[in-house]
Amino acid sequence: MGTSTRAKTKKKTTSPWEMARGQLDTVAQRINLEADLHEMLRNPQREITTYLPVKMDDGSLKVFTGHRVQHSMARGPAKGGIRYHPGVTLDEVRALAMWMTWKCAVVGIPYGGGKGGITCNPKEMSQNEIEHLTRRFTWELVNFIGPDRDIPAPDVNTNPQIMAWMMDTYSMGKGYPAFGVVTGKPIETGGSLGRNEATARGCVFATVNALDKLGINGNVKVAVQGYGNAGWIAAKLMHEIGHTIVAVSDTKGAIYNPKGFDPVKVYQHKQKTSTVADYPDAEKIGDMEVLEVECDILIPAALEQQITAENAPKIKARIVAEAANGPTMPEADKILAKKDVLVIPDILANAGGVVVSYFEWVQGCQAYFWEESIVNDRLKEIMDKAFNNTFELMKKEQTDMRTAAYMLAVERVAKAVKIRGIYP
Ligand code: GLU
Repeated sequence: MGTSTRAKTKKKTTSPWEMARGQLDTVAQRINLEADLHEMLRNPQREITTYLPVKMDDGSLKVFTGHRVQHSMARGPAKGGIRYHPGVTLDEVRALAMWMTWKCAVVGIPYGGGKGGITCNPKEMSQNEIEHLTRRFTWELVNFIGPDRDIPAPDVNTNPQIMAWMMDTYSMGKGYPAFGVVTGKPIETGGSLGRNEATARGCVFATVNALDKLGINGNVKVAVQGYGNAGWIAAKLMHEIGHTIVAVSDTKGAIYNPKGFDPVKVYQHKQKTSTVADYPDAEKIGDMEVLEVECDILIPAALEQQITAENAPKIKARIVAEAANGPTMPEADKILAKKDVLVIPDILANAGGVVVSYFEWVQGCQAYFWEESIVNDRLKEIMDKAFNNTFELMKKEQTDMRTAAYMLAVERVAKAVKIRGIYP
């Protein structure tokens, strides 16, 4: 959800960073994590804040603020997206960087965690202004990112074109083509087939596993919050395998039809009118109501902190598959657990994007590119394994799936930190 949702949910008092740290603290206690390791992991390894002058199309100069946070490089280079959004803060980027560390660990890919963000509203900027902003940001980061140190990727409001500009600017700075510096690139410049759909595809693999474990067969009803890259493609893929999409939303509105609608037609409508709202074959509902409609599966695919103590009691879904990062507040987690809702946590449910980013990086390093079917099969293999490991640990520990995923992830990262040692 965009700014309007943020304004409506302003009441929340916990910042994403406090929330992320709190999640780590809870698990650290549960696994008896050594105090020194815990303290290290509570803090990022490196933070860069940079002020970015951009000549706007009207001739005026505007200075934007950008951040890149490298939370951990214990298991490999930092990895994580770059987001362009008016709500970006350093605290948000810190949280997102920490979540990337756990995400890469839980699916077992050889990366640490990082994240970047620029406080801006790209919806009000021209392509020219976005390009200048991107190039300036990349220039500021040129000595801190790289194929073997920190590898950005797309996130909210960024896309393959923006990744191509980043790669180009970095390559100019270094004096040689460095395709491995970012992932999520266009196919023509070293991208991977399947990367664009990967977050949604991974989320659908996880959801299908969850349905299977709960013994739910046949057609189910799905609601999706957010109609960006993750949300709309998740809706499309769920529809393709025979499920009914009953509600979707974006920053400007939400729609509902208990009989279902075709998500591709809704996407085309959004392309024409810039929003899903007013789609003719559905009823218009409040944008937050999408979380509360009658459905079996809820896919929050917008921003963090959407499912709160207030709306969690009203959620009717049996499964919540977190395509967004950090959509569920810790108090809401407790309420959903009591209601026996299976929450597939973000670090698992949306890991498909970074898994295929990893494939893109591997393919680029080897200069040997795979068929899309190979990408998708290998993604499925990794998602199924991570899902099953997490689900089994959840049962064994009699806990929820988020705690189980964190237990696996934090343990892996802490081991790497410990083996490498603390002193330079
Ligand atoms: N932005 C995505 C995420 O939050 C992808 C990150 C990546 O591919 O590095 O997982």
